[in-house]
Amino acid sequence: MHPVTVTVFPSFCRLCGRALEEPGQKVVCGHCLDRVEFHHGPVCPVCGRFYHQAAASGLPCGHCLERPEPFSRHRSLGPYSGRLKEIILLFKYKGCEVLSQPLAAMAHEHLASDGFFNGLDFIVPVPLHRKREKQRGFNQAELLGRALSGLSGVTLLPGILIKIRNTPAQVSLEAGERETNLRTAFTVRKAEKINGRAVLLVDDVFTTGSTLRECAAELRRAGAREVRALTVARAV
Ligand SMILES: [Zn+2]
Ligand SMILES: [Zn+2]
Repeated sequence: MHPVTVTVFPSFCRLCGRALEEPGQKVVCGHCLDRVEFHHGPVCPVCGRFYHQAAASGLPCGHCLERPEPFSRHRSLGPYSGRLKEIILLFKYKGCEVLSQPLAAMAHEHLASDGFFNGLDFIVPVPLHRKREKQRGFNQAELLGRALSGLSGVTLLPGILIKIRNTPAQVSLEAGERETNLRTAFTVRKAEKINGRAVLLVDDVFTTGSTLRECAAELRRAGAREVRALTVARAV
């Protein structure tokens, strides 16, 4: 009879290679999570654009003054670069779905003190078309939304907002084409559930904002009283 040997494979941080020693830690170490750069300065109170001058604090940006947004407030944690971008890429494309937990925890910690989650009735994830979701195996926005729901106590409402047109990937398009690409791509089912309610839309990355804009407009058309939006990172 052969002796039974149990080999425990240590896991290592996918970003820096350190051993993952803390209990519950998966994929990325605490050191790398701590080094994520948030935007701490002032932002446009509506679209959340990062301001780099304190003087602009409290006033909406030129874009928001020119064109009112269908959402009342959008916030991102920080720019889509560095550690934050690397973590999002692991989360979305490398099968590291467990990263929805630390990403949601960072978002909750960063925004809850400003009362961002106060008065919300539901969290609604930005949907993928069912074909795209089947390919990927999950909807990253829904995983983030579920984790945020657990942290904030706001009910997750998946399947209310659906994507009815499988549009080409946004990254392959120029900014001008993106708006056209998304028009009528989303619709709301069971509108009575969100009628008169305050809803938080959740997605991973804010690029031009056209996806959030279209989703928020659709939720408002369906009767939502207020739509806020949260993305982990902002590309512009
Ligand atoms: Zn690390
Ligand atoms: Zn703005």
